[in-house]
Amino acid sequence: MRRRRGPRPLVAGNWKMNGTSASLDEARAMAQAVKGAKLDCEIMLCPPATLMASMARALKASRIRLGGQDCHAAASGAHTGDIAAGMLVDAGACAVIVGHSERRSDHHETDAQVRDKAGAAHKAGLTAVICIGETIAEREAGRALEVVDTQITGSLPRGATSANTVIAYEPVWAIGTGRTPTPEEVAEVHGHIRARLKGLGGADGDDFRILYGGSVKPANAAELMSVSNVNGALVGGASLKADDFIAIVMACG
Ligand code: PEP
Repeated sequence: MRRRRGPRPLVAGNWKMNGTSASLDEARAMAQAVKGAKLDCEIMLCPPATLMASMARALKASRIRLGGQDCHAAASGAHTGDIAAGMLVDAGACAVIVGHSERRSDHHETDAQVRDKAGAAHKAGLTAVICIGETIAEREAGRALEVVDTQITGSLPRGATSANTVIAYEPVWAIGTGRTPTPEEVAEVHGHIRARLKGLGGADGDDFRILYGGSVKPANAAELMSVSNVNGALVGGASLKADDFIAIVMACG
């Protein structure tokens, strides 16, 4: 186990719209693989809503925690197809991803909506994993830092602290593409996010976990995780298979 300074890392797997009950075998294999392992990181899986309850049972008594992929800003009501934060708690979740770039693009979610969802997550007792990140056009225009600034300002609800909020920096152009920023580019953005979190006025800017996400694989995880101000990973495709996800977890320590 590698001891590090800074917040305890989190490795979260986002299964997106993938997986049926047959896939629970992968989750069980992950739980088995980390049982008794000397690891200093937290591990979480975010399955589709249809698998929340069954995965909660599959992971019961394991060290892998459960998260949702999105929640509605309201606590209940006439919102067909949506899921309230309290429902995720009821299904066994301790956290929820909000503002993923696929939600921002597929469902045109704005920073204000993301902020309200994160606020609802907090109210229900969930940690909000708030995703931010620039598109390729924004990066090429030299606007990456400006974009994440705007997203941080707009997406963090009042009362966000390092205890109830995790930031995931996911350059949109790196998600599912096999492309990753260089370690220097990751360091620049994560350092910038850290400075912004420290400037929010709370005393705990240094304690926020800032995850990197976007094409994290077993082959690049150790290098990405060694970058300054990277406190874990949000993993999409490589979290579907136990061998790949566990290799990433082990690289995070
Ligand atoms: C994601 O969508 O959160 C993600 C990081 O995906 P991938 O790892 O597949 O790039």
